[in-house]
Amino acid sequence: MNKEIKQLTELQVIDLEIAKLDAEINAEEAELLKREKSFDERQASVELLQAKIDAAETQRRELEAALADELSRIKERQSKMMQVQTNREYQSLLKEIEDGKKSVKEKEEEVVRIMEEAEANAKIMAEQESFIQEEKKALSEEMAEVQKHAEQIEGKKAKIVVKREAMAKDIKTAALRKYDMLRTRRNGKAVVAVTNGVCQGCFMSIPPQHFNDILKGDRILNCPTCQRILFHLEESGAE
Ligand SMILES: [Zn+2]
Repeated sequence: MNKEIKQLTELQVIDLEIAKLDAEINAEEAELLKREKSFDERQASVELLQAKIDAAETQRRELEAALADELSRIKERQSKMMQVQTNREYQSLLKEIEDGKKSVKEKEEEVVRIMEEAEANAKIMAEQESFIQEEKKALSEEMAEVQKHAEQIEGKKAKIVVKREAMAKDIKTAALRKYDMLRTRRNGKAVVAVTNGVCQGCFMSIPPQHFNDILKGDRILNCPTCQRILFHLEESGAE
């Protein structure tokens, strides 16, 4: 096999290893991000619930103040009843008292309804808060673990990158540039095997004459379809 093809083939193995490590880190970080996002959403929903509880409490206080006003108005009218002169005046006061009582009853019912709802919300709130505390703890533990693992992988990657750089130094600039360009455009794979006359990058057949040239292995040849650099690999896997 031509020296350059051999070098690029070896470089490809290393680059795939690096890409695999990167993908490993990215997958873990993406998973963590997803969990953080769902945690944030839960926290936001708890904050919304708290706002609802606060608003209900304000409404309850306002209602109770209005209730107190209404009750004192009723009392006022009841004492006025003693001094009425005319039947018309009496009827009018009586109606005001009845209306006042009706209004008091409605407000009392509303206060009860608000308090029941607040109680139910407080229960949900307590559950959610304890859940959030647990989740927060679990998340921070997981974050530390991912970070630790990422550091291990980065350490491993750093060693491989040093090796890659040393290898790349021995390869002609033009060939290396072409290889890197192909790698960028072809999903990280610039050098692929031809097995049974088929390019293992795009799985298209290689024309017979071109295949014969690849078999010789004396110069860099590309796949006519995907342009990847090809080397011959027996079906058994032996080179
Ligand atoms: Zn191809």
